[in-house]
Amino acid sequence: MTTGSTTEAKVELLGLPLPRLAEALAPLVDKPFRARQIHDAIYRRGVTAFDEMTDLSRDLRVALGERFSLTLPAIRERLRAEDATTKLLLRLEDGASIEAVDIPDRRRRTLCISSQAGCGLACAFCVTGFWGAGRNLSAGEIVGQVLLARRELELPPTVNLVFMGMGEPMLNLEAVRDALELLAPTISPRRVTVSTAGVVPGIDALGRWPRRPNLAISLHAPDDQRRSRIMPINRSYPLDELFAALRRYPLEARRRITFEYLLIEGFNDEPRDADALARRLAGLPSKVNLIPLNP
Ligand code: SF4
Repeated sequence: MTTGSTTEAKVELLGLPLPRLAEALAPLVDKPFRARQIHDAIYRRGVTAFDEMTDLSRDLRVALGERFSLTLPAIRERLRAEDATTKLLLRLEDGASIEAVDIPDRRRRTLCISSQAGCGLACAFCVTGFWGAGRNLSAGEIVGQVLLARRELELPPTVNLVFMGMGEPMLNLEAVRDALELLAPTISPRRVTVSTAGVVPGIDALGRWPRRPNLAISLHAPDDQRRSRIMPINRSYPLDELFAALRRYPLEARRRITFEYLLIEGFNDEPRDADALARRLAGLPSKVNLIPLNP
């Protein structure tokens, strides 16, 4: 494993799907099943140092270390809050910053991860939005957050994942899908929630996945006028369009769509707002997370 930097000549393996991993390893490994063995070591057991892949011969481990790398994000800072959440501020290879947050809740552990470094959607209540657009993360950079947190925070391999860190996952859906395929041996789609500000083409695309994660919507206002004020994306995909997409979304049995709703004093927290919200959600299997916004 390398944190933060790799030797230039080395080939990065983290994030490669099995066929591409096998292709990259072909000049070095003697038997085809070795690629599967290495893939399992990384994504099933969370081993990101060749030296620790003790089911491989010592010679092969040394050769792998000389030619390849498995680069995890580097930890810039670790912030533990009173409620026991731990935020990891991370630096990627090109210096971009992202974050991952471990949220323990009694018996459950949930890791909130980033899909982009920065975000161009400019939601008024969001620090990431304030700093503006950055770039999409690769599948390896998404997976790297999980493997790093597994190791540093002793997360179980079956941790729940939410894409609610930096970025809008629907604008980087291909890398999100590739990352989830890599993590699938330990994290089933039922343990994953993809949260969107309401990017309708992304919701439709997610609906076509054969194995779908849970869906969450950052809603935060019951009407277009107020939602557009705090979430500019609403001007592109107003509520009628968003809810039409949610009603055609192929929700599996016993699943619900989660709606995140920031309670902003004097803005969206009146009983009539609750009524308007209830009317919007009528007939849609849903649950609402009310989140008081601290000024
Ligand atoms: S979509 Fe998410 S990350 Fe982007 S600005 Fe809005 S709240 Fe922030």
